[in-house]
Amino acid sequence: MREAGLYLHIPFCQAKCHYCAFNSRPGSRARAEKYLQVLSSKIKADGRTPWSQEHSFSTIFVGGGTPTLVSAKALCHLLDLCFSVFAIASGAEISIEANPHSVSLADLELLRQAGYNRLSLGVQSFDDDLLTGLGRSHSSQQATAAYGMARQAGFTNINLDLIYGLPGQSLLQWQQSLETALALAPTHLALYELTIEEGTRFGTLAAEKKLSLPSEDELADMEELTRALLSSYHQYEISNYSLPGHECRHNVNYWHNGSYLGVGAGAVSFMAGQRINEEADPVRYMECVGRGESTSKEEESLSSKARFRETIIMGLRMVDGLDISALQQRFGLSLEDVYGSLCQELSEQGLLLLEDDRLRLPTAMLPLANQVLSQLV
Ligand code: SF4
Repeated sequence: MREAGLYLHIPFCQAKCHYCAFNSRPGSRARAEKYLQVLSSKIKADGRTPWSQEHSFSTIFVGGGTPTLVSAKALCHLLDLCFSVFAIASGAEISIEANPHSVSLADLELLRQAGYNRLSLGVQSFDDDLLTGLGRSHSSQQATAAYGMARQAGFTNINLDLIYGLPGQSLLQWQQSLETALALAPTHLALYELTIEEGTRFGTLAAEKKLSLPSEDELADMEELTRALLSSYHQYEISNYSLPGHECRHNVNYWHNGSYLGVGAGAVSFMAGQRINEEADPVRYMECVGRGESTSKEEESLSSKARFRETIIMGLRMVDGLDISALQQRFGLSLEDVYGSLCQELSEQGLLLLEDDRLRLPTAMLPLANQVLSQLV
């Protein structure tokens, strides 16, 4: 059986954060649990497709939104259902996202016992003023407490998400958040630069020139500080650091442009060279499932060349880059077939490294990856 990832999306949160452009909206637990019942029907239907039956799922990721908005009991049933419907590989990585205010020790114990073995906590900052500025629903103290409870509940693989480049954030505040995170010794850290997205509260404030963001130099200082403080972690992707053996296998599959099934409003699947985007609106999504209609909003069949390019773009996000021979074998295409002399030229300009049968970004280019990747699209 071929391997794939499974993603389940729960698009509700207690409140919308000011920077958030994810497919999430404020919703009550009752609303989210009603959605979960519909999601269960969809999981059963998706489990019967020939594609699902030909694949073994080596990762499951329950994300959102805030999955822990629904009860731990309901999340345990969801995982049980996945085990009964899909072939889940032994030793599968099973992640769940949680916000610090939405978990108790009892919840975490139930989740761990049900088989969730990786917890991703959306901490974002350990500075209460910055958390308020982001519109987060939790305090720094709640984040530390949630981490402690997760450990106590038996989670040994925990990611913390943090964001830098926040409005009004100083280098010292970033340093303090990083040091607080490091003192907790998580196995994984996802450290993202804030991006201002249209349609968010921050997007509106930025358009009105009411957002005071760190300068390019300050951002570069934050990135340099990050690399210095995280020297005991392995940076394996532009924004992701882990202790050895704790890379997020689910996301690594995305960056390798592997196959995955996404279930839920706004989820994306990549199966047999085809990308399928699900209806993003949860109400419409639930209506489609209820009527037994297709939930897919957009389907795109990708040519070998398009998949080759995507694999390069995503693979270059990984610090180790891509194995050129494996790429050629997978697609029957060479770098020259797809890019002509471009990769060689970028290599001569010091923007790409072509050595030992690998293609990767020079370490110094990682923070500026988009400049190179935009030329390879
Ligand atoms: S908790 Fe996450 S998904 Fe929900 S609004 Fe905030 S950033 Fe978006």
